[in-house]
Amino acid sequence: MTMEKYDLHCHSTASDGALSPAELVARAHQQGVTVLALTDHDTTNGLTSARQTADTLGIRLIPGIELSAIWEHKCFHIVGLNIDPANPTLIEGIKQQQIIRAERAEKIAHKLEKKRIPGAYEAVKASAGEGMITRSHFADYLVANHHVKSQQEAFDKYLGRGKPAYVSTAWADMSETIRWITESGGIAILAHPLRYKLSGNWMNRALTAFKQAGGIGMEVVTGRSSLDDIQRSHFYAQKFQLLASQGSDFHSPQNEWVELGRLQPLPNGSDPVWKLLN
Ligand code: AMP
Ligand code: MN
Ligand code: MN
Ligand code: MN
Repeated sequence: MTMEKYDLHCHSTASDGALSPAELVARAHQQGVTVLALTDHDTTNGLTSARQTADTLGIRLIPGIELSAIWEHKCFHIVGLNIDPANPTLIEGIKQQQIIRAERAEKIAHKLEKKRIPGAYEAVKASAGEGMITRSHFADYLVANHHVKSQQEAFDKYLGRGKPAYVSTAWADMSETIRWITESGGIAILAHPLRYKLSGNWMNRALTAFKQAGGIGMEVVTGRSSLDDIQRSHFYAQKFQLLASQGSDFHSPQNEWVELGRLQPLPNGSDPVWKLLN
């Protein structure tokens, strides 16, 4: 029996990652990952290139995506694992999300202009290249131009919810995104469940809705989870009979706190999502 090393959540230059899909897969391989899901924000464009490198190096690539979604006016991230990027329903859904993303980028730039920060649109367009424009690109621009000292400060001062350059965004409903994933043959996973800062009551409601809409699993271990986070997530996974997933949410080698494949183990008694991937 071989010991697999799973990392089922990470980003490339197809969205807000620093490494190209090929570089990302090579780094994962170097780190001993044997099963990798590339899950860029609202795009599958990195998968073709990732596949080529994965086949060359002999690492297993799971086609994935991280979809932005709305439930009860709150934004959630839904990871799709083992999706079929050629599925028409999924393609149509992604197309909608990309239009929303592009329009949002213009609105964010406009709001920054009002705060006397010009040029953001041109800059993020250039830095994203053919990839999705995300708020990370805006954060980098604000850091590069000395408006803030860190990405975190960029979110705290400008880009985060309720801040001057925040744009509330009409992403697809959570149930829609789950439907696209499921129709394409994929598995819908609630990403980083503790990142939404939900009270226990809201968490119960959100997970009930997620499960009812066809959600199959949730991330129990992420690259930044404390042992306490893992226990809490495990509790909810058990309570709602959701399969346990794990993924680093790696974006860049510059962030030394997060590395591909560097993850705490799933708690004893977990029902791992990879039983559906084999
Ligand atoms: P978007 O999907 O365009 O709203 O961008 C969301 C991305 O921004 C996330 O996937 C993270 O990579 C990044 N992000 C969100 N919040 C923060 C934060 N507080 N500090 C740093 N990066 C963040
Ligand atoms: Mn991101
Ligand atoms: Mn996310
Ligand atoms: Mn992510």
